[in-house]
Amino acid sequence: MDSSQYRTAAKEAIDEIANYYDTLEERPVLPSVKPGYLRPLLPDGPPQDGEAWDKIQADIDRLIMPGLTHWQSPKFMAFFPCNSSFPAMIGDMYSGAFNAAAFNWICSPAITELETIVMDWVCNMIGLPKCFLSTSENGGGGIIQGTASEVIVTAVVAARERLIRRRLADMPEGEEKLDKAADKRGKLVALGSEHAHSSTMKAAIIAGTRFRTVPATKESNYGVTVDALRRTIEECYAKGLEPFYFTATLGSTGTCAIDDLAGIAELAKEYPDIWIHVDAAYAGSALVCPEYQHLCPPIANFDSFNLNLHKWLLVNFDCSAFYVKSRKDLIDTYSITPSYLRNEFTESGLVTDYRDWQIPLGRRFRSLKVWFVLRTYGVSGLRDFIRKHIKLGEYFHELLKSRSDIFSITTEPAFGLVTFQIKPPVPITSKAAADQSDPAHEAYSNDFMPNAEAQYRENSNHRTKEVYEAVNSKGEFFLTSTVVCGTYV
Ligand code: PLP
Repeated sequence: MDSSQYRTAAKEAIDEIANYYDTLEERPVLPSVKPGYLRPLLPDGPPQDGEAWDKIQADIDRLIMPGLTHWQSPKFMAFFPCNSSFPAMIGDMYSGAFNAAAFNWICSPAITELETIVMDWVCNMIGLPKCFLSTSENGGGGIIQGTASEVIVTAVVAARERLIRRRLADMPEGEEKLDKAADKRGKLVALGSEHAHSSTMKAAIIAGTRFRTVPATKESNYGVTVDALRRTIEECYAKGLEPFYFTATLGSTGTCAIDDLAGIAELAKEYPDIWIHVDAAYAGSALVCPEYQHLCPPIANFDSFNLNLHKWLLVNFDCSAFYVKSRKDLIDTYSITPSYLRNEFTESGLVTDYRDWQIPLGRRFRSLKVWFVLRTYGVSGLRDFIRKHIKLGEYFHELLKSRSDIFSITTEPAFGLVTFQIKPPVPITSKAAADQSDPAHEAYSNDFMPNAEAQYRENSNHRTKEVYEAVNSKGEFFLTSTVVCGTYV
């Protein structure tokens, strides 16, 4: 394909994409294809000779579209969203065009410098403490990584190595130190709420450390309390283990719960060797609104923070903003400089080489799409967007409440997320029960059924699962279920 053919093909593709967006809400959100649908429709291997673009493009409609789940559909209510926008798509287009693996500053100064600047913009925009700015005296800063899971692995491994460095600081380099470090790693424990995203457990597996959950109950609205965290830390020490990392969650995956950030910030002062990371993958975008920024000050006591701009801030996948209070903590772990990566700019100490803040070497030009989105919508446009979603969550909650004969609310709207159950159809066993506002529940709570609570819960879980599966099997809407402390929602 030469540049003139590209001009024609790309313009057609852009028209097709715009049409796709214009007609999105008319499509069922879920495809009806069966597993393995695609293989019989494709040849056994790539063509020997190149094909005409017309033929290739036509296959988007013929082969790909039938197997797509439409994440941008207004009927997509599953998982967390993965918002997109046209300015971000254009950013990705340019990024693909420049196609630079900008791991060192000299590999494309604009790529590094724009990233540092937009990460500072975002830091200020969401009211994150100033210690996370690249210009902070403490040497903080932000980097864009692909996903929250990647960020959390990066933080866990850096936390592990920081602890080992601190514990073995007095030992001379050599075999004995390496052996000691290996012994230590086996005793280290990463912690996360029982409702934290599975990425913390995965990170601990990758880092070769242990992992323990911190209980978070209905009474604390599914957030980790400072007492629960303290207890878990002390239990680890009592067993001869050493907690070295904790993921505090701001917006848990199941219910959008928030751990007690203010309480944990105080506890953090007693345990300066435990790296505390705040995972705000989804809900962090709401911090763009001043009414949520009261959550931010305690974060100054933690080591790192992330939010996925690709979840809820109109930046296309992938784009997870990762902030650290001390970039040295990352560089001390990840900087390895063989001769082929050496250059005068790195040696001058005046530039940022983002390869030293991450696991991969090469990296995409992701800041361009962030820059385009921030400039196209402005802070006020992004606030309006978030507030609209939060209002929709509250509206949905009102609708559920207006049919309390069918639905029971498990968790109130939080950042647009509401979890609920379907009440089971149950026999009414007494007049008193029938008179209650929640007759089904009362019917099971009377003296005739000693296990009434458990039975009711099991029936609610069963009924909710049935309805959930029926909705998704129709394909028009897509919902996600989960289990929160034994309740299927
Ligand atoms: N953290 C939280 C709170 C999440 O809800 C999710 C995904 O939904 C993740 C982390 C993982 O996100 P990613 O796909 O960016 O790895």
